[in-house]
Amino acid sequence: MTTEATTPRPYQSYVYAYPHKTAYRPLPDRPPLRELWAGQSRDALSLYLHIPFCEVRCGFCNLFTRVGAPDELTGRYLDALDRQATAVRDALGDDEPVRFAAAAFGGGTPTFLTAAELERLCDIAEKRMGADLRAVPLSVETSPSTATPDRLAVLADRGTTRLSIGVQSFVDTEARAAVRPQRRADVEAALGHIRTAGVPVLNIDLIYGIDGQTPATWRTSLDAAIAWQPEELYLYPLYVRPLTGLGRLGAAADAAWDEQRLRLYRQGRDHLLEHGYEQVSMRMFRRTDAPRDLGEGPVDHACQTDGMIGLGCGARSYTPSLHYSFDYAVDMREIRTIIDAYTTTEDFSRAEVGRPITPDEARRRHLLQSVLQAEGMPAADYRDRFGTDPYEDFRAELERFAARGWLDTGAPATLLRLSPEGLAHSDALGPELFSDSVRAAMAAYEQK
Ligand code: SF4
Repeated sequence: MTTEATTPRPYQSYVYAYPHKTAYRPLPDRPPLRELWAGQSRDALSLYLHIPFCEVRCGFCNLFTRVGAPDELTGRYLDALDRQATAVRDALGDDEPVRFAAAAFGGGTPTFLTAAELERLCDIAEKRMGADLRAVPLSVETSPSTATPDRLAVLADRGTTRLSIGVQSFVDTEARAAVRPQRRADVEAALGHIRTAGVPVLNIDLIYGIDGQTPATWRTSLDAAIAWQPEELYLYPLYVRPLTGLGRLGAAADAAWDEQRLRLYRQGRDHLLEHGYEQVSMRMFRRTDAPRDLGEGPVDHACQTDGMIGLGCGARSYTPSLHYSFDYAVDMREIRTIIDAYTTTEDFSRAEVGRPITPDEARRRHLLQSVLQAEGMPAADYRDRFGTDPYEDFRAELERFAARGWLDTGAPATLLRLSPEGLAHSDALGPELFSDSVRAAMAAYEQK
């Protein structure tokens, strides 16, 4: 079978969480958190604190974040975070021990906060929620302009094990083209500060597919990143999404751009594999000698079974049967309204917006989170958890993937693993595993 006619476009959707927030809806009964968490295992939870502030709005970004924080908004936001943490910890109760196995501060840019505010953020995680930050992996996102020595010293002292910095490109003109003005000298200085702070895992994010980017300039960025020997590197394809800066500029996705991105992806992958890195997923690469248990936090690669507590108005929380959050938007005005509403909220005892996780959705989520990892999914794990066979449950999809050459035919029969081309097409493969109802909800979601 020729793959040409049947292969979908490679860059459709980054499946970093399933179901996506655009499939969430207001929960009519606003269930009390106490009921949602009753009877759920809570001895290996993940804790995620969301800081929705940035110094600039990057042109490609559709994350829930706003530019700047006038009128001491960060202080009021932390006040609300404190109230929410108190309410959530109360809802978890003390009938069973509550233990956090991992923590992450994401955004936005958590280091938009001052050093003193970061101390307060850590206090909220520790004193309100009971997370032992110095004893568990703690991952924090930062940016070149906010990775200052005073902030990094606080984070290192409070137990940060991984710092992830969005560099995107070491070529200044490309950074401008992605609507993220920065100077390489500032980026290099920030990386120096991070290394001086002594946090064990450094992750650098790079983007490919920027207007004007060539194999030579891509190589420049890859080599500049490798020079710092980061323990992790993420290579992201550029997306142009509705309502983002680039989306508003009218940049169009087309076949030539797909080709450019695929070419640069393969170049980047091969370059990293030749320079001491192993591939963990389509986007993630890890230095082969890097520590394994201090790295990535609970956001991108949450364990398929454990629960997650998200605090802050852009954060998701997961119980096995419900994913929930607050309202979601990409448009700056809408985001500001949602953040303002969050800072005045007094009652955090209920889930507002979310999506139930049916047994079918739980199977899809397990498969998605496992099979998009380079190491693949042991079929036995799936059978043990659900009592059914993944090859039967997803027969049509897997046959389609096999016909396109996306499955590794050399993998042991007990392991469902993608081929290199399957991994390259993760953003096309993933969406094909969405349920009809999630797909319909995402399609019906009104972008705002
Ligand atoms: S990419 Fe990061 S730094 Fe840029 S706007 Fe989005 S969250 Fe902020």
